[in-house]
Amino acid sequence: MKICRLALFDIDGTLLSTGGAGRRAIKEALVEVYGTCGSADNFPFGGKTDPQIVRELLLEEGVSEDVVERNLDLFFARYLRRLRQQLSRSQLRLYPGVKELLSTLAETEGMFLGLLTGNIKEGAWIKLRAFQLGKFFRMGVYGDDSADRYKLPRIAVERASKQFKKTFQGRDVVIIGDTLHDIRCASSIGARTVAVATGWTSLTQLRKHKPDFLFPDFSDYQEVVKAITAE
Ligand SMILES: [Mg+2]
Repeated sequence: MKICRLALFDIDGTLLSTGGAGRRAIKEALVEVYGTCGSADNFPFGGKTDPQIVRELLLEEGVSEDVVERNLDLFFARYLRRLRQQLSRSQLRLYPGVKELLSTLAETEGMFLGLLTGNIKEGAWIKLRAFQLGKFFRMGVYGDDSADRYKLPRIAVERASKQFKKTFQGRDVVIIGDTLHDIRCASSIGARTVAVATGWTSLTQLRKHKPDFLFPDFSDYQEVVKAITAE
């Protein structure tokens, strides 16, 4: 049976852990550009886009919207520099089964692998390259396509359809992630969902949001391949 499927992966908490490098880079760049990082130590980053994280943290600190927006480009330039530095000195961890899962999917006919992540594009690729994962992904949608994660699935489908010259319907799309936002954002296009509990959200919590498939991690990667390629 020939399949045509677009698998869209989240990055942090789903494929890998940067050992806090991402959070530290955001904190340092916030202090550098805005003079404060607010409650960045305890703030939940999971499932949020980078621009959303920055806005929420700063508005909570009383920084005006105007000041936030005006310095956003500068902030992200500083963030990328800090991210490279932080990654080189952090405890990086690829979750079990991820390499095997991505290799198997990449070799599956009719399978198109992409990213759906809140990271800004350049940040996403810095992280992927640090883990040698870049070669697996042929397209992506990022936090700089929209600060609203819930808008990303539709953008992904449009982009992938154009790039691969295929028509992807809702059920041809699989969104793979570690938070309830990954699961929920899929409903806007009727995509199927694969949730994994390697991030900060527990298996029990994820189950409440009724993903189509749920895994503690990807170590049993052949089962994950089945879930993604299932009719
Ligand atoms: Mg995540």
